[in-house]
Amino acid sequence: MTTPITVAYGDGIGPEIMEATLHVLKEAGADIAVETIEVGERVYNMGATSGILPSAWETLRRNKVLLKSPITTPQGKGYKSLNVTMRKTLGLYANIRPTQSYHPFVKTPHPKMNMVIVRENEEDLYAGIEYRQSQDCFQSLKVITCSGSERIIRYAFEYAVQNGRKKVTCMSKDNIMKMADGLFHRLFDEIGAEYPQLTKEHYIIDIGAARIAAKPEIFDVIVTENLYGDIISDIAAEVSGSVGLAGSSNIGEDFAMFEAIHGSAPDIAGKNIANPSGILQSAVMMLVHIGQPEVAARIQNAWLVAIESGLHTPDIYREGISKEKLGTKEFAKAVISCLGKTPSTFPAAVFGKAEKRIPAAPACQTQECVTKKELIGVDVYIQWAGDVNALGNKAKALETGGMTLENLSNKGLKAWPDADTSGMHLTDQYRCRFRAAKGKTATHGDIAALIARAGEAGFDFTKTENLYLFDGAPGFTLGQGE
Ligand code: NAD
Repeated sequence: MTTPITVAYGDGIGPEIMEATLHVLKEAGADIAVETIEVGERVYNMGATSGILPSAWETLRRNKVLLKSPITTPQGKGYKSLNVTMRKTLGLYANIRPTQSYHPFVKTPHPKMNMVIVRENEEDLYAGIEYRQSQDCFQSLKVITCSGSERIIRYAFEYAVQNGRKKVTCMSKDNIMKMADGLFHRLFDEIGAEYPQLTKEHYIIDIGAARIAAKPEIFDVIVTENLYGDIISDIAAEVSGSVGLAGSSNIGEDFAMFEAIHGSAPDIAGKNIANPSGILQSAVMMLVHIGQPEVAARIQNAWLVAIESGLHTPDIYREGISKEKLGTKEFAKAVISCLGKTPSTFPAAVFGKAEKRIPAAPACQTQECVTKKELIGVDVYIQWAGDVNALGNKAKALETGGMTLENLSNKGLKAWPDADTSGMHLTDQYRCRFRAAKGKTATHGDIAALIARAGEAGFDFTKTENLYLFDGAPGFTLGQGE
């Protein structure tokens, strides 16, 4: 049965690489009906700050599968990234980014690399929740949830099992972000214990990224949060030979989107020199997903034959290795002329049925589940450009019967009392931490009364954050130096 798919041609090199890819798909016999939507620059310029029109959402929801070229996100205020909006709106929580070397035909210092990055796709700093709170201070909120982390970690382990992989590596920065990244790491350890057949390891993201650049062959499947995954997958693709080579899938429970990992490359747009391989690889993943694995394998094998025959686009063309330097269109024709052939150097591609969908994990299946939540205080952020001791004394007067002022901190570092701030670079916003007496709880009424007093005292309070204990464990960090 013909499968309807939605196609977005995108911006920059998008239309060229998409045309080349659809040409290959047609000649390979992909049984798809293409419905095109307009997204990106033209839509932004029409005044739609989201970069997509309501009619396009309707098409997307009906077809459930999207093959998308990169788009250009306009710089500046007001515009939201369409990619992020789509991933979140369609619930595309898993971003799968395979990268491998095509040595000796594509020059790379890492001939043995073959890794898959499983990137969480909806949370983290990509939540896009940002504030300017004072003249000096801007904040971006990093959102990590138990349920979202559990889901992506389970996805990575299941992916590893279903694809015959041997090792799953978690990357996080839990030495610094003890709560958010600490949760991710703990869940990885806990869920990993359910997969004794797989090797598990954890890297702090900075050394992990360095190792991907220097020794990518040591990795198999990597699971990580959104921002880290975005960065390391570009590193991985680049060191494999070119960012133009890697495709990706974005998988949710009901929808799937397939796109190259690179951007719209405006520097080479319209020149017929872009490498269409990234989007072609994404289209291969899409064909497997929609149940056409034979066509997917036919295309993948033709593509491998073209690569090993030295038929290369300029980004991977190297004198002495490549045979012909081909434009985008000509490369697509070369792949088409290889349809039906099997590669002689690379192992021939064989795809099974689409990987089983990983069911959404019900919330709180892990040891992170808690039953008791107790309110024990509040952090009140106050804009203040004057002396810290003066603020400490003034804020102390806000204390209510239920809560006392414990300390002030500035950018997470304790600044009052008993703190030497002479070497600190202070911003114009302080966190005032009020806590109930040890062993006692606070009420929302206590907090409301405290805030009302802060208003009456003329403080510009910019934000408040409640302090909770979860089954007795603090749901907040201490200030550095506390
Ligand atoms: P980019 O990936 O577009 O380009 C980086 C470099 O890689 C450029 O030198 C480019 O010429 C080269 N390159 C990229 N794809 C190539 C290909 N297929 N063949 C040959 N060379 C290729 O990154 P950028 O310049 O940082 O971003 C440009 C625009 O793309 C920005 O507006 C950004 O927001 C957008 N972007 C979109 C997506 C997406 O739609 N998924 C992803 C990343 C960036």
